[in-house]
Amino acid sequence: MILEFDDCRLPQAQVLGEVDGGFEVMNTWLYATRITVATMSVGRARRVFDYALNYAAEREQFGQKIGKFQGVSFQLADMITEIDAADLLTLAAANRLDLAMPANREIASAKLYASEMLSRVTDAAIQIHGGMGLMDDYPLERFWRDARVERIWDGTSEIQRHIISRDLLRALGA
Ligand SMILES: Cc1cc2nc3c(=O)[nH]c(=O)nc-3n(C[C@H](O)[C@H](O)[C@H](O)COP(=O)(O)OP(=O)(O)OC[C@H]3O[C@@H](n4cnc5c(N)ncnc54)[C@H](O)[C@@H]3O)c2cc1C
Repeated sequence: MILEFDDCRLPQAQVLGEVDGGFEVMNTWLYATRITVATMSVGRARRVFDYALNYAAEREQFGQKIGKFQGVSFQLADMITEIDAADLLTLAAANRLDLAMPANREIASAKLYASEMLSRVTDAAIQIHGGMGLMDDYPLERFWRDARVERIWDGTSEIQRHIISRDLLRALGA
């Protein structure tokens, strides 16, 4: 749904910043909302990981639990490593925000890494479930579809990379 306000009259006291300067006002806090995308991505990835871990510990093929196959166990190892890395990156960025330190680049890195991590982890979780990963018995295909938007909204991955690299290069006058 799109709300449009044409010729909407407001008392002066209700105007935020300068008239026609809404984008500048928004930019003073917009970067901080990206931390919520990072935290949501980490939380969803942990939920999906639990499904994959339990399935690997229960499902038997070729006479043993599939978690015993290195092809599966190494995927689990990579998944949890990436989830923990995204979690710590997110916490570090949020801590800078709490301390009122510059956090634009750090939050962009957390949003970029956590949202891309979620895509990889949901994809791997479905792979570990085999065909069952696409069935309604598990919510994995829903997590996989929902994961896709995290790399787009609140600034696409490309825009996060732009913010991060601009922050680094500007400091050198480039
Ligand atoms: C489900 C959903 C909910 C949303 N909710 C909200 C909301 O509540 N509030 C809100 O304000 N917005 C919302 N959005 C909008 C969202 O923030 C934008 O879709 C997003 O920022 C990308 O903008 P765009 O769609 O215009 O893509 P575009 O800007 O057209 O980008 C298209 C492609 O070009 C690339 N690109 C664009 N510019 C550059 C550049 N400078 N360098 C490199 N690559 C570039 C992008 O990365 C992307 O791959 C929502 C979007 C979705 C899908």
